[in-house]
Amino acid sequence: MSRIFNFSAGPSMLPEEVLLQAREEMLDWQKTGMSVMEMSHRGKHFLAIAEQLSADLIELLNIPDNYKVLFLQGGATAQFAMIPLNILAGKKTANYVLTGAWSKKAIKEAEKYCDVNIAASSESDNFTSIPDFNSWQIDQQAGYLHYTPNETIHGVEFHQVPEVTDLPLVVDMSSNILSKPLDINQYGLIYAGSQKNMGPAGVTVVIVREDLVGNADAATPSVFDYAEQSSSDSMLNTPATYNWYLVGLVLQWLKKQGGLVAIEKLNIRKSNKLYQFIDESSLYSNPVDKACRSRMNIPFILKDSALDGEFLQQAQANGLEALKGHRSVGGMRASIYNAMPEQGVDALIQFMAEFERTH
Ligand SMILES: *Cc1c(COP(=O)(O)O)cnc(C)c1O
Repeated sequence: MSRIFNFSAGPSMLPEEVLLQAREEMLDWQKTGMSVMEMSHRGKHFLAIAEQLSADLIELLNIPDNYKVLFLQGGATAQFAMIPLNILAGKKTANYVLTGAWSKKAIKEAEKYCDVNIAASSESDNFTSIPDFNSWQIDQQAGYLHYTPNETIHGVEFHQVPEVTDLPLVVDMSSNILSKPLDINQYGLIYAGSQKNMGPAGVTVVIVREDLVGNADAATPSVFDYAEQSSSDSMLNTPATYNWYLVGLVLQWLKKQGGLVAIEKLNIRKSNKLYQFIDESSLYSNPVDKACRSRMNIPFILKDSALDGEFLQQAQANGLEALKGHRSVGGMRASIYNAMPEQGVDALIQFMAEFERTH
């Protein structure tokens, strides 16, 4: 068996220890004689797994008591609709900040349910910056303010929380949740799909302040109603049981790494190394404003795009997979989530240096 370094934006690498434990427990989970996949979601074994999952997420993120933690399906994409349906509470308008491809999709979906006020946009500079917080035009009568703390495709990350309004901040943390400690109290609602930084695809975490729950539009499907999911412990319908278990293993792995303080240090070190190498090179460049470069997704272009094919082919031959940039941006992108070991980043830099030397 040989494992490569996988720089995919998602689904992405998982910690090897997690995969090994899942393999170990595949046929017989803790002497039950069953795979987790075969267990009733109402049975005591699975309920223990579910409780541990929830407790570990609360511990890692230090989630206060007045927040509900939900594990849902439908990905972040379902949340694009669930958010206006659940938390507008009769308001007609919501504020959105447009900083890349994912906030654009969130806006397009929200427009089906409400008027969207674009409070700020970086579209005119091809999504390589974050508009100065002081310039945001917020409708203070609106239901909430939505932004995307890490734009996975454009490689743009908020390193500060915009304290610009008393409205609830609603954030799509799909690609940077669990990459650093958060002050949950600063947010009204945090949501994230699992397949970037928490596990395999199939689980959507929603952390929502209690007072925002219970006001869903009457036409909201039950499985998409936070209040109904909350009162049934996210088991209004059969949950993605095996994926909950795998996310749980990732959380336990994260705790063993020293939690979010330790993982943030590592993420800073990994990303700084790669940015520094790119900035010092004459072949590669990254277009994003230095103040808001993502620690998770690092796009870069080659000076001559005619070399792209050869770069990717040789990278792959060196065990460095999935470096092709998103089609809307072009060039390359290295996604280096929590599970990417530092050796993977070192191997990438070494390869890039050698490629530069020979081209
Ligand atoms: C991947 C991603 C999504 C889409 O997630 P799905 O699970 O496919 O719905 C949304 N937002 C961000 C920031 C992402 O990185």
